[in-house]
Amino acid sequence: MEQLKPCPFCNGKAHVELVYPGVSPEYSVKCEKCKVWTTWYRKRQDAVKAWNRRAGK
Ligand SMILES: [Zn+2]
Repeated sequence: MEQLKPCPFCNGKAHVELVYPGVSPEYSVKCEKCKVWTTWYRKRQDAVKAWNRRAGK
């Protein structure tokens, strides 16, 4: 499983969040500190990738 990089804005800890559990589950990665998050993705891995891309470096 891919590791989540720290938040690009505040360096805080991030976690994968399940948005819409049930009917059409989608995933987003959210910073626990400044609450910034990615758009929603059908696949968990896509959300992780998008987050890590934005986190860069
Ligand atoms: Zn943050």
